[in-house]
Amino acid sequence: MCDEGDSPSSHFISSPIMTSDNEGAEPAPEISGFTGFNLGWELDKALARMGYVNPTPIQANAIPHALKGLDIIGQARTGSGKTAAFAIPMLAGLKNRAPAYPRALVLAPTRELATQIRDETRALGIFKKARVVEIVGGKSMDRQARDLRKGAHIVVGTPGRVLDMCDRGILTLDYVEMAVLDEADEMLNMGFLEDVESILRMLPEERQTFLFSATMESRVLQIAFNHMVEPKIIRVKDTEIERGNIREIFHFIHPSERMTALVDVIERERVGQVIVFCRTKSEVDMVAERLQKRGFSVEAIHGDYRQNRRDKVMKMFKEGKTDILVATDVAARGIHVDNIGTVVNFRLPDDPTAYVHRIGRTGRLGKTGVAITLCTDEQKYLLDDFKNKAHKARPAMES
Ligand code: AMP
Repeated sequence: MCDEGDSPSSHFISSPIMTSDNEGAEPAPEISGFTGFNLGWELDKALARMGYVNPTPIQANAIPHALKGLDIIGQARTGSGKTAAFAIPMLAGLKNRAPAYPRALVLAPTRELATQIRDETRALGIFKKARVVEIVGGKSMDRQARDLRKGAHIVVGTPGRVLDMCDRGILTLDYVEMAVLDEADEMLNMGFLEDVESILRMLPEERQTFLFSATMESRVLQIAFNHMVEPKIIRVKDTEIERGNIREIFHFIHPSERMTALVDVIERERVGQVIVFCRTKSEVDMVAERLQKRGFSVEAIHGDYRQNRRDKVMKMFKEGKTDILVATDVAARGIHVDNIGTVVNFRLPDDPTAYVHRIGRTGRLGKTGVAITLCTDEQKYLLDDFKNKAHKARPAMES
């Protein structure tokens, strides 16, 4: 993902869109590798061991501010490297003393995410001898209490269990210097607002707070307003590359939010007419129906429809009477519509050639086009390989 050299993948990560304080674009600071951050040998060695060569956009932008002690709001999704964006400065600030009480607290919406954060923080903090303890529901409280008694620098937990352990006097937050709310929007969706606020009120006022969220809805900003001091806002569009006249954007999403992400993308990033590509006929029907229910002007096309229905759908789309066409790869083969401004890959196709064909539906006749792909975190590694192949195939496609 962050290999050096002039490979498509290094380009892939080096063209983020960032804004700070909601205005204008802020280019990523020119930092090669992590050494410019002066993190100390322990972190440098851990980063090298983990194979993190260059900071991701969110890391490049958040870490310098975090190291200065500022509060930070990061708009970034899973897959952006947000965990290390807060874990690195958190660990850098850790004094090498025996941990009597936790110095840092990370709150996450789910056990799975808490475990991932714990593991990554442990790996990053291995040479700092950081003790990271997980406090999550559904696991033995006794065991967690024992872990805490042995001393913890960093506690990573879900709000309910953290609050419970505090109420029982097992967990003391009086010495927390840094707090992180990860996936704040998800924590609110899961009904954790009150717990999160109670926990934040228990923390010392003199502390640094980070908030990460995929969305910047008002409920999220309200928490920031109530509990943070002049936070620096950092936004990172997941990854974006521009090649020729087609801008390719990759959104890393959780599988459960695919439909919400699609609606979001259509509402916020759509240019001109849209084709949404799905992998199966039933998915085409489902997506078209859901978009219709949301009030979009949409039609579906796939091989199970009779020819005259397909012709009618295509005619309406070509004449610009429908904004969005949801299609399978096969059904889209004959589509040559010049005004398609946006292609959305609801799901990654199986092979790179299909990807190239899909995105080639936009950016025709020298017009600019946007190709947006929704992919899950697990597909990230697949994607690098995939993109290399796809772009090798591209010139043939354009000729
Ligand atoms: P996250 O968004 O924190 O869930 O991170 C997504 C994935 O990217 C995780 O598997 C990390 O291990 C990996 N990662 C984070 N930062 C870097 C980096 N600078 N270089 C390479 N991989 C990274």
